[in-house]
Amino acid sequence: MVTTHNLGFPRIGAKRELKFGLERYWKGESSRDELKALGAQLRERHWNDQRELDLAPVGDFAFYDQVLDMSFTLGNLPARVQGFHGDTLDNYFRVARGRSAQGAEEHAACCGGVAAGEMTKWFDTNYHYIVPEFTADTTFKLDPSRLVEQLAQARAQGVKAKPVIVGPVTYLWLGKAKDESDKLALLPRILPAYAALLDTLAQQGVEWVQIDEPVLVTELDAAWKQAFVTAYDALKTRKVKLLLATYFGQLLDNLDLACALPVDGLHIDAINAREEVAKAAQKLPAHSVLSVGAINGRNIWKTDLNAALEWLAPLAQQLGDRLWLAPSCSLLHVPVDLASEEKLDAEIRSWLAFALQKLAELKVLATALNAGRDKVADELAANAAAIAARRNSPRVNNPAVKAALARIDAKLGNRQHAYAERAPKQAALLELPAYPTTTIGSFPQTAEIRHARSQFKSGALDQTGYQDAMRQEIERSVREQETLGLDVLVHGEAERNDMVEYFGEQLDGYAFSQFGWVQSYGSRCVKPPILFGDISRPKAMTVEWISYAQSLTNKPMKGMLTGPVTILNWSFVRDDQPRSVSCYQLALAIREEVLDLEKAGVRVVQIDEAALREGLPLRRAQWGEYLRWAVESFRITANGVQDETQIHTHMCYSEFNDIIASIAEMDADVITIETSRSDMELLDAFDDFRYPNEIGPGVYDIHSPNIPTQEHIVQLMQKAAERIPAQRLWVNPDCGLKTRQWAEVIPALRNMVAAAKTLRSQVQ
Ligand code: GLN
Ligand code: ZN
Repeated sequence: MVTTHNLGFPRIGAKRELKFGLERYWKGESSRDELKALGAQLRERHWNDQRELDLAPVGDFAFYDQVLDMSFTLGNLPARVQGFHGDTLDNYFRVARGRSAQGAEEHAACCGGVAAGEMTKWFDTNYHYIVPEFTADTTFKLDPSRLVEQLAQARAQGVKAKPVIVGPVTYLWLGKAKDESDKLALLPRILPAYAALLDTLAQQGVEWVQIDEPVLVTELDAAWKQAFVTAYDALKTRKVKLLLATYFGQLLDNLDLACALPVDGLHIDAINAREEVAKAAQKLPAHSVLSVGAINGRNIWKTDLNAALEWLAPLAQQLGDRLWLAPSCSLLHVPVDLASEEKLDAEIRSWLAFALQKLAELKVLATALNAGRDKVADELAANAAAIAARRNSPRVNNPAVKAALARIDAKLGNRQHAYAERAPKQAALLELPAYPTTTIGSFPQTAEIRHARSQFKSGALDQTGYQDAMRQEIERSVREQETLGLDVLVHGEAERNDMVEYFGEQLDGYAFSQFGWVQSYGSRCVKPPILFGDISRPKAMTVEWISYAQSLTNKPMKGMLTGPVTILNWSFVRDDQPRSVSCYQLALAIREEVLDLEKAGVRVVQIDEAALREGLPLRRAQWGEYLRWAVESFRITANGVQDETQIHTHMCYSEFNDIIASIAEMDADVITIETSRSDMELLDAFDDFRYPNEIGPGVYDIHSPNIPTQEHIVQLMQKAAERIPAQRLWVNPDCGLKTRQWAEVIPALRNMVAAAKTLRSQVQ
């Protein structure tokens, strides 16, 4: 018999109940007990949703983040919150976000506001975890209370519980040694805490523990490989069975290692590593369970169940009871329930599966394998019909788009002439001073803008009324920028709710859910648009707004677009074609917009690639391939313009020492990047690589309410000028200003413009 289980369930709630509960607690509007009760209620509901499984995860629920939970379980709290007052949960939030609930911070002198833990992306997902902090002196002390409590709750509910923990090697790998000491030196110290944890779970009658080691899908050097051997050797005598879980990629050269570790089972992500399933079945010792992640835990498409059964059936024959079935990874990365969607187009909806639907698929697969396909003949037939309908739908397949894609050749991505030749033409036309000033695109999304948008959505405001309201905001932005004396203006993006959704809504091939929320970090969720079909652009998307803005001023107005790679990386994408193909389709569509802007007389076009870096594969060996098509897509989008048209791009980070050559290949005339926080240190990349075009290193940290002084900006730019010739430098903020208030933006930009004037006087 095949055993079914799940690696983790979305914790935020089908209606984002956890988000709202957390935010109420933080504002002091609800008590700690109420928040804890909400957590218990969500867990109860989620276990109930998983009741058909043979084993359900316990410990996957977290009030903020599962890695931070693990830090607390291991007693690894940063020194700055040790000895603080209050409940553990308050300390937990202090590490997570710098402070706990308002009411909990009455000891403001000691606990009211500490530096929050650093946050970074969980492998190649859009989920962010709180980075564990280490020093050479870090010690660990088990606090199993969270897991023990959740286990008791699960037991009381009759759940067949499988506790889930982050494994010791992955935990160390994810953390950061604040004193640059060797994290691996902590392994002998952390293992006793893990051993004690497993013993505690064994005492509670737990049979299986899922121990997540996703780091096995990355490139590991000899020392980290050895850490696996040491760690699992030390844990092998514990009285629980360990299921070692890997996901998000192939094990490759770590496969032998994983199969040889003294554990009781191995989980493989069969969506990303199908070909390794059979190999693992061969290599694993005869007592070992092989858990196969046959349902994609990261996208929202129905599984082709009949196709899955074709390859699962022989495996079930071969392995018998040793075969387990699960989603490929935790379902944390998908929305909860498709049944919540009332407005989604019925046809597209029939192709989708959210977390609950994925668990139902798992059940169908297990029944077919355990009791025969006849038992689920109806389900399999319905699934086959849905898969075929999607494959053949004219809404998915657009022959014109496929034909355009087939016509792409290298020339499409080339500018007419090299930067050195086109730069003087642009300069002659734009007549900009040295150290030109600009902003990254958005201006504050004021209460009036949000109000107008919600009125428009509810029907209380008609199209003309909405358009008028947005035009007023655009005019306000333009006037403010003229008064400030900025050189290249923007329209302010008032009409955009989100830089991806805005374009997705206007492109054919995109659908939108109402409740398709996925946790990004803490209480923050994103609702990625669903890219389901060949992408085309029925009509111009931004030209009217930009032309209107340009009509208000004689200064150059920058057209503002989101680039293909960023749109792709922030969407749920198709599983029936490579990401690169979807990206090229987006590139052709946005290219048309660029050319329409140019035709409308716009002389500067910015194409944001905020998320280019996020798409980098987990393994460095695969970076080159990704960068090749990502850069090519950008070039196709941007480079069809005349020499005289100036192309800008913007990226929300500046750790690009390792990808700077690719960024240079994009051949944008100007690139603006985030740098202000690092005191321009991040420009180190420019020591070794001479970036050939113009660059605007951000001088105003838009994530902070602080107003940068003129002197500070001058200093930052002088540092930049040590590395990049002054005639190729721009002066701009780090990123868009939509989350700020006008009251902050105006003085900050005033200082920025004044700083640029000082710098100009030094050039002459
Ligand atoms: N143009 C966008 C804005 O200013 C860029 C946002 C981003 O880089 N994330 O809002
Ligand atoms: Zn940005």
